[in-house]
Amino acid sequence: MVSTPNRRSPHHRGIKRTRKVKILATLGPASRDQETIAKLLKAGADAFRVNMSHGDHETHRETIANIREVEKDLARPVAVLCDLQGPKLRVGTFAEGKAFIRHGAHFTLDRDPTPGDENRVCLPHPELFGILQKGQRLLIDDGKLRFVVIKPEADKILCTAEVGGQISDRKGVNVPDAIVPVPALTDKDRRDLAFAVEQGADWIGLSFVQRPEDVAEARRLMGGYGALMAKIEKPAAVESLEEIIELSDGIMVARGDLGVELLPEEVPPIQKHIIEKTRASGKPVVVATQMLESMIVSPTPTRAEVSDVANAVYDGADAVMLSAETAAGQWPVEAVTIMDRIAAKVEGDSTYRERIHLAATPPDATTADAISASCATIADTLPIEGIIVFTGSGISARRVARERPAAPMLVLTPSINTARRAALLWGAHTVLTKDIGSFEEMIGKGKRMALRHGFGAAGSRLVAVAGVPFGVPGSTNLLHVVTLTGDELATRK
Ligand code: PGA
Ligand code: MN
Repeated sequence: MVSTPNRRSPHHRGIKRTRKVKILATLGPASRDQETIAKLLKAGADAFRVNMSHGDHETHRETIANIREVEKDLARPVAVLCDLQGPKLRVGTFAEGKAFIRHGAHFTLDRDPTPGDENRVCLPHPELFGILQKGQRLLIDDGKLRFVVIKPEADKILCTAEVGGQISDRKGVNVPDAIVPVPALTDKDRRDLAFAVEQGADWIGLSFVQRPEDVAEARRLMGGYGALMAKIEKPAAVESLEEIIELSDGIMVARGDLGVELLPEEVPPIQKHIIEKTRASGKPVVVATQMLESMIVSPTPTRAEVSDVANAVYDGADAVMLSAETAAGQWPVEAVTIMDRIAAKVEGDSTYRERIHLAATPPDATTADAISASCATIADTLPIEGIIVFTGSGISARRVARERPAAPMLVLTPSINTARRAALLWGAHTVLTKDIGSFEEMIGKGKRMALRHGFGAAGSRLVAVAGVPFGVPGSTNLLHVVTLTGDELATRK
């Protein structure tokens, strides 16, 4: 049975934040125990990433169980993102574990599994032979070594080391200039995906997406469980961005590999482009990797890192992510604390609202969007303490969040899956409720929940948004302005 946040615990109000942007923290050896998870949540984490590139299923099972235990204690829906490794290419091994390749030297990648040396190594990916063309780049070890193909043959590829250096066993290979005909999901990914589904992962991360079909295939394998986050870390994915967004539930700007596949200076404009396009779709967009990298070993970030986090918040991203900072670093709680403080500072800046609205997200010609846009307008016109969104599937919440409204959003849903997924959605404070039957019940419940969760007091006005009849996804058709009397909790029925 899937455990759910406990509505009756003494902390039944859960943690309330005023921050809009969400924090996604990767768990690992430095943080996957219950005590640290609780500290991370209290410090500001909203969702956790379990990275399937490292560790085994037993460890991940334990990590996820720990998250669910803490979630129950703190009565706040938490999202778990299981991130699949994807088809990461690697070189074979070396006779001495490593080799040194001089700048300008020739180097051959072949299909011979014999351990390599300074002249050659095995490239255990048959699909790359016949694909790589003269003049194309091969980047090794996160781009530290750069080879250019000079003579591609059926079973060996002769290269020049434009940038040489030390190469060692099983280092990663990036081939940014080619579309690699590898399956979107390796056998390991398929096993990991089945595991993630079995564990009730709220989000599944898809690495090295190249084509829209890759997303479609993963979606088929997910069989209706979990939401799909496509990681944009290949130039080919940037090319097909709009179709990939269309087929996904969320997008990650995976700057680590993207910055290797492209030149690092190409990443910032692409980051802004991906954020803008994903925001226009109403789906959550996460900015990831090296956000507070120096905090892996230091209790304080660099000024440049602080600025990077701040800029992602100004761009209106739904979430910012921590990787090794929280998974394996020495200062996991401090990293989340700093991220929380940076976000709070930006969101308190008087230019913040103007800046997040620089990205154009005009409403689609639907009733749901007309209502969501009206909601934002009302919140700009009247002193509104909150927008109460009743949602089953989460679509209404997404459409309202897409407007980046000034008033805080209280999302009420009877679905634990919707509640957890929305932990990555900009501005959403989500509370689990029972099913709602009638309009009167909805308004009564909305007012009570608003009071209980600190969205206003006697005399406060709020906007309620819902789709009637209840339970029909995407049917948002109702907007109601309510005023609290302050004694709604006493008149509970
Ligand atoms: P990774 O993905 O941490 O799984 O590599 C994120 C990135 O590449 O930025
Ligand atoms: Mn990556």
